Amino acid sequence: MTTLMSVAMSIVMHSAHSNFGKEVKGLDRWAMGLLALVGGGVAFMLRDEFPQTPLPMATNALLFCGIGLSMIGTQEFFGRQPSWRTFWAIAAGGFVLIGWFLVIKPDFAARVTIFSFLVFYFYAEQVRLVWRHGTPHFSTRFFGTLIGIQALVVLVRGCMALRAMVANIDLMRDNAMANIYLGVANFMALMLTVAFMTMATRRLQTILEQRSTHDPLTGVLNRRGFAMFYEHQRLQMRRAGKPITLMAIDLDHFKAVNDRFGHMVGDKVLVQVARAIRQTLRETDDVARFGGEEFVVLLPDSDEHNAVLAAERIRDALRRFADIQLPMVTVSIGIGCHASEQESLDALLARTDAALYRAKENGRDRIEIAM
Ligand code: GH3
Ligand code: MG
Ligand code: MG
Repeated sequence: MTTLMSVAMSIVMHSAHSNFGKEVKGLDRWAMGLLALVGGGVAFMLRDEFPQTPLPMATNALLFCGIGLSMIGTQEFFGRQPSWRTFWAIAAGGFVLIGWFLVIKPDFAARVTIFSFLVFYFYAEQVRLVWRHGTPHFSTRFFGTLIGIQALVVLVRGCMALRAMVANIDLMRDNAMANIYLGVANFMALMLTVAFMTMATRRLQTILEQRSTHDPLTGVLNRRGFAMFYEHQRLQMRRAGKPITLMAIDLDHFKAVNDRFGHMVGDKVLVQVARAIRQTLRETDDVARFGGEEFVVLLPDSDEHNAVLAAERIRDALRRFADIQLPMVTVSIGIGCHASEQESLDALLARTDAALYRAKENGRDRIEIAM
């Protein structure tokens, strides 16, 4: 039953990988790992039917690969460099050592000890990744808890086997403990997969949310994201009786930059302008890209005077563009502060835009305040 479910989960993960593998890494490794575990399970079940075959060796090799691939998958999921060398060292080293204690000097406890301590590494590495890079969300805690339990179980089993080995007692075969262990191992293989999928779908959700509120080129907010940020700030500032000020920023003669240097350079300039704006702002401010080369900045708890200082800082930052080998650009900036509690965002934007156009009319590369 577990084998069939694992095959099904592997298919689910494969299909998830083909649908959003670019956004969420590691699903394909987990899918492959699961298939290897299924193979290992089948080889384990058939071992008594075909005693003359190297099935026990195949079981161990497949289990090492399966669990190791889950580690690689989790590393990729958290954006880490997959440690293939460790993977192969453990898989190949484990295979040889277990082969030794199976064929040359048969010792069941020694095999369990080696197997447990080696796969413990695969699990412990995943616990470490969740601990260091996991987000504080249910899905991560769910996965982290399960993988932690799994690591503990193999560690305890390894220690028990080690003691048996020292005492030279082969107590691991066909007893209640071994049966419980196998049952738990099967169940955990499935549950861990489910938990990893939960984490993957959560990641996808976060990415999609981010995409729907952010501009793909510059990474700053888009109109939708800006509207949400504005609503949130508006409520807070109204409660605190503090003003909100907007800044509309448009690049001067940007068409000429594109014509002269090409669209690629134009795009780089836009990215750097967005970055320069962000760097000059406070933590509580935010910037959105509203159109091709127009940005809007929201400054909570700021009046026109503070906004002019912020606008000057932005113009200063753009003057340093030559340092990063980009064409010099200037900006025209319109500044508008909420005139009353009742004024809508659209009305404020219209006044701020009017100030921006005045800045354009008055010669560009300057700041104007909305009336
Ligand atoms: P002005 O000083 O009056 O604002 O002049 P301008 O040339 O900046 O304004 P105009 O509105 O005539 O041209 C805007 C240009 O911005 C035209 C378009 O090629 C460029 N643009 C808009 N979006 C993008 C983009 O995503 N990438 C690049 N490279 N250029 C863009
Ligand atoms: Mg322009
Ligand atoms: Mg424009």
